[in-house]
Amino acid sequence: MKSQSHLALTRRDLIIGGAALAAAGTTPSPTAAKMPPAKAQAPGFFRRKLGEFEITALLDGDIALELKLFSGDAAEMEKLSHAHYQPSPPHAHVNAFAVNTGDKLYLVDTGTGNLMGSSLGRVTENMVLAGIDPDQVDVILLTHLHPDHFGGLTVEGRPAFKNADIYLSEADAKFWLGNEMIDKVPADFRPFFQMASAAVKPYAHRLMPLPQNGEIGAGVTTLALPGHTVGHTGFRFSSGKEQMLVWGDIVHNLALQFPKPEWTFAGDTDREQAAASRKKAFDMAAADRLLVAGAHLPYPGVGYVERSRDHYRYHPDFWPSKI
Ligand SMILES: [Zn+2]
Repeated sequence: MKSQSHLALTRRDLIIGGAALAAAGTTPSPTAAKMPPAKAQAPGFFRRKLGEFEITALLDGDIALELKLFSGDAAEMEKLSHAHYQPSPPHAHVNAFAVNTGDKLYLVDTGTGNLMGSSLGRVTENMVLAGIDPDQVDVILLTHLHPDHFGGLTVEGRPAFKNADIYLSEADAKFWLGNEMIDKVPADFRPFFQMASAAVKPYAHRLMPLPQNGEIGAGVTTLALPGHTVGHTGFRFSSGKEQMLVWGDIVHNLALQFPKPEWTFAGDTDREQAAASRKKAFDMAAADRLLVAGAHLPYPGVGYVERSRDHYRYHPDFWPSKI
């Protein structure tokens, strides 16, 4: 009985309240309640701390990577992709990562720029929305010389990051920028070599090989992860007790390559070596409980790797409300 009278009171209050609103002419009309769709995505930046360092994950966009680009059994890949609710064809994000150490502002990879279509190319735009002026970038670390990593370096032949030095593995520089390979590859592949040379050209006097001892700067070291390209390299950032491995293209599809790290991608230069590097990176990340940052992991592309026997699982990072 008690609850009934409570309900009655509530309903009466609502009626009285509604009548008062109507009298005041403030009752929302059905037409006014229809909000036009925003038709625009939210800005693509994510921020967290890593010890004293500040990490900003920057979204470049997304690209379809069909299952047939991977080396697994077609039916098994379809099953895994379906089980992970991936769209058909699956899409991969393209991410870049800014790391402010307090002393230097690093940018690992630069996205696609204007090389790969309108669903991509937003690294610089998102960087500005995140409050970072591209002119403030001190050092660009390139994991490798594929267009979805170097494309953002230039805008109409001019450097997009005019104060930045660039570090790049000697092996990738020789392969993609030298004269040897471009003459050997099929004509279809030549544009990739030409795009790479054009992208780094405005930085010619500031292009540096990765240091032999692997030390880039305080708390920043290299990790050779060859296979996807001959000089594919990860970068390990350490501050306080926290460490992050920015691993470039170790994973192109998480639904496939965490459970099956031996499954390779069509873009790999040396598939066997790429699979070995993937296992090495997974094992290191799992053993050391590293935060990993992947260029093609679902945005923001940061998380952790769990290992149980030969199986691996990805755990996305938590999005903190305050940093
Ligand atoms: Zn890539």
